[in-house]
Amino acid sequence: MAHHKEERTYVMVKPDGVQRSLIGEIIKRFEQVGLKLVALKMFVPTAEMIEQHYTLDPEWRRVTGEKTIKGYKDKGLTPPSEDPLEITAKILANLKKYMVSGPVVAMVWKGAHAVKIIRKVVGGTEPLTSDMGTIRGDFVLDSYQMSDTDGRAVRNLVHASGSPAEAEMEISHWFKKEELIDYRLVSEQILYDVNLDGILE
Ligand code: ADP
Ligand code: MG
Repeated sequence: MAHHKEERTYVMVKPDGVQRSLIGEIIKRFEQVGLKLVALKMFVPTAEMIEQHYTLDPEWRRVTGEKTIKGYKDKGLTPPSEDPLEITAKILANLKKYMVSGPVVAMVWKGAHAVKIIRKVVGGTEPLTSDMGTIRGDFVLDSYQMSDTDGRAVRNLVHASGSPAEAEMEISHWFKKEELIDYRLVSEQILYDVNLDGILE
């Protein structure tokens, strides 16, 4: 198995993140936790690329529908439907409108536990309930209830892969191999070296 420090994850600053001038803030948070940026580009995605992105994982439709139903029930509210797939069909249609509304910034980050660390820094899907100190908790205020009533996707600034397998699928969906850069950061020594020799003169 590859060393933990080789784990990669896919991140996309969504159109609202770009419009809120949060590109730098978002990148800063991943840099300061110790991860390494290995690919970066800005573009306007197509609806087709967005649909493929969200359905790379065959389980995504069911899991996202169930998560939404639970989000409603945990607040004592009635979900718009009891059928997860019906909910996700609507979410996907709204996501396609949201994600093609302007430029996004796509990135690949690398480092130990990159997927889990970035999900922790990003916070939960629904800004109303995502923790303070996370990107979605600190910089935005959307809810399932408001976005569903208004018939649009939850605006939560940033996408981050949910698992290492999802990350690898998303990276190859959005990046060509030659767009990823292999290099060393000097800070990796203090994060990963077993013997911290070479510091004292
Ligand atoms: P995450 O982005 O946290 O991995 P999901 O993969 O479950 O979340 O959903 C993908 C995106 O779809 C979310 O980030 C959000 O923008 C949108 N979304 C998810 N659930 C809903 C919902 N119930 N209503 C509106 N938009 C939603
Ligand atoms: Mg997801």
